[in-house]
Amino acid sequence: MSIDMHVHTARCGHARGAAAEYVAAARERGVSILAFTDHLPLPAAVLAADPHAASYAMPASELPDYVAEIRDLASRTAAPEVLLGIEADHLPAHLEETERALASADFDVVLGSVHYLDDWAFDDPDRTDGYEGRDLDALWDRYFTLVCEAAETGLYDVMGHPDLMKKFNFLPPGGLDERYQWCAERLAAAGVAVEVNTAGLRKPCRELYPSMAFLRALNRAGVPMTVGSDAHRPGEVGAAWDEAAAALRSAGYQSVLVFRKRVPEEVGL
Ligand SMILES: [Zn+2]
Ligand SMILES: [Zn+2]
Repeated sequence: MSIDMHVHTARCGHARGAAAEYVAAARERGVSILAFTDHLPLPAAVLAADPHAASYAMPASELPDYVAEIRDLASRTAAPEVLLGIEADHLPAHLEETERALASADFDVVLGSVHYLDDWAFDDPDRTDGYEGRDLDALWDRYFTLVCEAAETGLYDVMGHPDLMKKFNFLPPGGLDERYQWCAERLAAAGVAVEVNTAGLRKPCRELYPSMAFLRALNRAGVPMTVGSDAHRPGEVGAAWDEAAAALRSAGYQSVLVFRKRVPEEVGL
């Protein structure tokens, strides 16, 4: 048994494979619950200001087709159980537009993800020059503050890849333990879940998002967790479930959450 609460499809412009191929891969691998969480279309203002942004998310015109396709697959598929989710960028200047887009469909689960600091998509491998010459302690403070503020909007069920800023190993000289602590406490107070995202294992940082120390802090604070592969091709569906489950158990978790119609349910590990 495994669960994958975070996969993309070719619709977002930078992933490969149609939704049906992800379902087939999930079935082959014994994934029992599969949530599609493709990228919510970005606001027109972001697309206009950032020439890179067109490849970060599906175009607005695709959203109704995406919703219809996943709902149709869900209705025709017994195993795996297919859920309709979405991954929304947290963009503080565009919260109303995000809220309207999220209300346009009856999603099972909404991931909230910080990929942007101001107008810089800091996880884009083509834009790592943005880290050069930065005060990394200040950068990480800003990043975690934004993750907490995102959680506090109430727009999202699950905070995606909660320490994504480590992707290219630009770590703060002051260390992360204190930041894990206050961030975990604010996330707990906000009442969101957080995901263990196994894509970090496939990136230069070579570890799960969140790190083991952050996961322990989340557990101490009482934050519930989900698990997702962040697959961008069918071959990545369900990737590293065993590692994620082992990390969760080692941090003290005995269950993870699944969301249906935005309502969480605990599933034992
Ligand atoms: Zn993401
Ligand atoms: Zn993703």
